[in-house]
Amino acid sequence: MALRFPYCSNSCYIFRPIGNHGDHPSSLKHKQAAIRCSSARSARRPQNVPGEFYVDHTCIDCDVCRWMAPNSFTRVESQSAVYNQPSTSTQRVAALQALLSCPTASIHTETPPADILQAHSTFPIPIHEDSLPGVYHCGYHSKKSFAAASYFIKRPGGNILVDSPRYSERLAQNLQELGGVDYFFLTHKDDVADHDRWQKRFNCPRILHEQEVTADTAGVEIKLKGKGPWDFLGPDIDLLFFPGHTEASVCLHLKPLKVLFSGDSIANIPQGYLHVDPNFNWYSVDIQMESIKTLLPLDFLWILPGHGRRAKYNNVEEKNKAINDLLDSVYVRVAPLPSIEQNHLQKASLHDLARTTIKLSIHGTKLTRLVHTGYTRLSIF
Ligand code: SF4
Ligand SMILES: [Zn+2]
Repeated sequence: MALRFPYCSNSCYIFRPIGNHGDHPSSLKHKQAAIRCSSARSARRPQNVPGEFYVDHTCIDCDVCRWMAPNSFTRVESQSAVYNQPSTSTQRVAALQALLSCPTASIHTETPPADILQAHSTFPIPIHEDSLPGVYHCGYHSKKSFAAASYFIKRPGGNILVDSPRYSERLAQNLQELGGVDYFFLTHKDDVADHDRWQKRFNCPRILHEQEVTADTAGVEIKLKGKGPWDFLGPDIDLLFFPGHTEASVCLHLKPLKVLFSGDSIANIPQGYLHVDPNFNWYSVDIQMESIKTLLPLDFLWILPGHGRRAKYNNVEEKNKAINDLLDSVYVRVAPLPSIEQNHLQKASLHDLARTTIKLSIHGTKLTRLVHTGYTRLSIF
């Protein structure tokens, strides 16, 4: 069995025998097959351009490398690939940051990069030094949090870690140099990754809504109750009750810098508009849309999400237009039907949409998901 040594500096693999039955010929065969299989998965995807950096077949298509290093990574056939080898030092640093942040260690270099320690030292990454001083992207995304982004806020009232990165002592040391973590805010139950290790490292209270607490997070120190908003972190911060994606998601509004840390409740997507993903909704899309309405009167210009791209608006009117566009988008609910009717339903849905002369950015896969999940968003041009 091949075990990947996670996130080591040269993206190497180690191979370990399993069990005590290694001498049995059939077992050996089994192990050899497993190694071959794993080697195939860790091999360079042919969709990568030639050169030092490449993505292997284990990519889970989380999009992180594509927004962290857009000059190097793109999406090809439902996984990432290197389309442009880094040619400047800025591009190389970004590609190495993506390599270190990939939740599945699917990004590699042909030879161990000599500058990997330098890349580690760039975390947490300032998001926008001019307009967001003290706000950082932690990197080191975790598979346990479904590759969600986490953030660090350095502020006089106490530094805050927003959602959990994969535990990395290098990142911990860098956060320590920035003053350490005073509060550890978890937007909801999904993006908690290595919360216990971070809590122990910084002895910081974790904050999570009580309805989001699971057996894994039972030890959370501050459990929010009710519907908020909560302002106990200081006058600069409101914690906003935001049910919908989950039963009791909470967003963090950093008021002086006009930032909304949205968890998985709302995100920008590569196509450039705000989006909620019905395929990853664990409670109610309708309630999520109701929660999104409550953002209209709020004063923020940035959305820093768990998944998807950041959004930055020039003014509140622009922000509200984006939110209203999302609220106006059409969600089609399709009642669960026996599988025999699914093809018919797909055609009927297309026909209904054609009648309204709406041009749709929909393809077959999406329609299948529409049937399975009950909702999809239709983009109107
Ligand atoms: S960060 Fe890793 S898993 Fe995510 S899209 Fe890139 S290569 Fe794939
Ligand atoms: Zn989530």
